[in-house]
Amino acid sequence: MLNAVLTNMSTLTGANGAAYSSPIKGAFGGNRTTKVYGLMTCKTAARYVAAGTYQKSRVFFADEATAVAARYRPCARCMPGRAAEIAGGV
Ligand SMILES: [Zn+2]
Repeated sequence: MLNAVLTNMSTLTGANGAAYSSPIKGAFGGNRTTKVYGLMTCKTAARYVAAGTYQKSRVFFADEATAVAARYRPCARCMPGRAAEIAGGV
């Protein structure tokens, strides 16, 4: 299924939690260990990436619906509104 000739492919995580190759870059980042997803601009994520501790747990999602389907929670730092909605069962 995967075409090794294609370049600029990104590894994304699907709704079932499995990795797949996509020509589209992820719109949301996630942490496989803590099961949190957030914006690509998240300051907390950037800090962990800078510290070098995040890369091995880093995953990417094509969209928010996929992250939620994969049972990830929104980041309280960069998506506080979504975190509150989901915590409230909305
Ligand atoms: Zn965040």
